[in-house]
Amino acid sequence: MYADLHLHTYFSDGTFSPEEVVERAEQQGLKAIAVTDHDTLDACPRAKEACDDRGIEFVYGTELTAEIDGSEVHVLGYFLNIEDPQLQSQIELFRKARVDRIYKMVDCLNKMGVQMEAKEVFEIANCKSPGRPHVARALIKKKVCPNYEAAFSRFLYNDGPAWVPKTRFPASDAIDIIHNSGGLAVLAHPVLNKRDDLIPELKDQGLDGIECFHTKHSGFQAKKYCQIANDNDLLISGGSDCHGFSKNRPLIGKIRLNEDYFSRLRGAAQSHSAAES
Ligand code: AMP
Ligand code: FE
Ligand code: FE
Ligand code: ZN
Repeated sequence: MYADLHLHTYFSDGTFSPEEVVERAEQQGLKAIAVTDHDTLDACPRAKEACDDRGIEFVYGTELTAEIDGSEVHVLGYFLNIEDPQLQSQIELFRKARVDRIYKMVDCLNKMGVQMEAKEVFEIANCKSPGRPHVARALIKKKVCPNYEAAFSRFLYNDGPAWVPKTRFPASDAIDIIHNSGGLAVLAHPVLNKRDDLIPELKDQGLDGIECFHTKHSGFQAKKYCQIANDNDLLISGGSDCHGFSKNRPLIGKIRLNEDYFSRLRGAAQSHSAAES
């Protein structure tokens, strides 16, 4: 077993540094990893360097937040050229929208009587991709909420009193931007989206693969998504979606994509780039 292609760092809502992620990947015996922070590429250069030092193959990645037919979907981009100007300017738009959203969420909290400043969230986030998990951590630090779950169930759940929707970014645009920077577009954790009906449409928009193996997928679901991938001529991917410690242990390496699936992804990315150059 070979690769974990869905990992977060503290450059988005994970808690590990890029170096810690790579160190743990090595401890797990992984041969290849992708760092896929939400709407940012900032961790990639450091993770790449740490992987090079340890002989681990590094896949430049991200997890873009997008929308199709009123549903939020996450599109993983793999084998990206992180210097691509179009990709970088889209990432900059995401950063601005995320910062803006934090101000709005803090405003909602203030209106509910929670005394708090956006600065307190940004200090915790310490990254360019702040989101609800950072607001939750700020609420815990201020002792407004005892834990993460309480912050979400009281304030931050979808449609909750301090929830602010994200700016809409069409999934087709996410796929195009990933392709234009030489990458592969893979639908993340389909079980969480509950919109399997959209997979053929996403395929028509250029989707390359599905994350069939994921921490939140049962063995049965993984098998089902492999079947859906085969039926739709889509590649198969997998990753733990590790954000740091979960129930006292990090998830990294919990999901391991085999070498054959990984090679097919790498090969597809190489043939895309060859076709474009
Ligand atoms: P955001 O991208 O800012 O909307 O935040 C989404 C992240 O918040 C997800 O990736 C989860 O990690 C977390 N999250 C969303 N809903 C909940 C919930 N009900 N309970 C705990 N965490 C949640
Ligand atoms: Fe996350
Ligand atoms: Fe996700
Ligand atoms: Zn993720």
